[in-house]
Amino acid sequence: MGAQGLHHGTVLRPFVESEPHFYRTRYKPSMSNIRSMSSVVPALPVFQVDELHKRYGTHHAVNGMSFEIHAGECLGVIGPNGAGKTTSLRMCLGLTAPDSGQVRFNAHLDSTSAQTPQWLQMPQDALAIKSRLGVVSQFDTLDPDFTCAENLRVYGRYFGLSKPILDERIPRLLEFAALSHKAQAKPGELSGGMKRRLSLARALVNEPALLLLDEPTTGLDPQARHLMWERLQRLLQQGTSILLTTHFMDEAERLCHRLLVIDHGRPIAQGRPRELIAQHLEPDVVEVYGQNALGLPHTPLAQLASRVEVSGETVFFYTAQAGPLLQALQAYEGLRSLHRPANLEDLFLKLTGRQIREEG
Ligand code: ATP
Repeated sequence: MGAQGLHHGTVLRPFVESEPHFYRTRYKPSMSNIRSMSSVVPALPVFQVDELHKRYGTHHAVNGMSFEIHAGECLGVIGPNGAGKTTSLRMCLGLTAPDSGQVRFNAHLDSTSAQTPQWLQMPQDALAIKSRLGVVSQFDTLDPDFTCAENLRVYGRYFGLSKPILDERIPRLLEFAALSHKAQAKPGELSGGMKRRLSLARALVNEPALLLLDEPTTGLDPQARHLMWERLQRLLQQGTSILLTTHFMDEAERLCHRLLVIDHGRPIAQGRPRELIAQHLEPDVVEVYGQNALGLPHTPLAQLASRVEVSGETVFFYTAQAGPLLQALQAYEGLRSLHRPANLEDLFLKLTGRQIREEG
């Protein structure tokens, strides 16, 4: 995610209490009201993006981006560095103005009844839309001078939330983030995982219908990542929608109901993770590395796979029938191999190529 980040700051303040009607009528996922949404499949999207375009000079950073997200759905946006993820998310948040295209939020979120959508639209309804969004930026934007509890309180005030509401909500949010014992600690005293969970708690202070998460577990150790994933799964079960960017394919596979693969600013594939893998890849992969492995694509072994790729010092054989290949490999000395099912990383590399993208 680019350095501009996604923090949507203090612009949110005026809306919430001035339009209480929306808070009576919309579906509000609440941590005190945990209920499974898995059996409720709403027909209408919560959030819809149509044909977004953004140019910087002659560079087409976003080139026809369209997607929609339903209640309780996690949509993952994956793509190489410079693919246009940050720019797209910034346009969703109203932080970057698109050259053309539409960003809409459905304010009629009572997903249990068939209703016509009540669309709020960027930029004219920016404040109303932002009051329904929560954002966790990749970079720490917590206030270092305030305690954890104060960070939540100050952020809640940006949304115009009253003291009684915040008095009730803050302990629940700290508990949700497994940070009750750190309520009076300042961010500088927290581990990286704790800071990220505090940022998540802060993003939930306005009980958003849609969370935008920018690489939420980058830099976290495995334990901290798993705790974060567990909390995000809980939110999805409560009906919160998530738009997530990540460079971790295991995270994308674990959390995302659907994936949008983008490259050079445009969507190149969209679908459920397992379906995309089945659609684009051979089911089995044999990775081979070791002495003289790089010469293997030029041997008869290559005939035993439908596709052979080289990356660094590893040769990847993609096949529907790994048996004959594994048997033939035994005749080669000094090689090591790994036989595994095709995964999202294979998909990502097939669709976007193996060359490093330092620039978009
Ligand atoms: P990463 O995974 O590295 O964060 P990304 O997919 O988020 O990348 P963006 O940050 O959206 O990519 O950038 C898309 C392209 O637009 C890049 O080529 C980038 O250099 C360019 N770009 C982004 N913001 C600006 C800007 N403000 N001015 C000029 N070019 C920009």
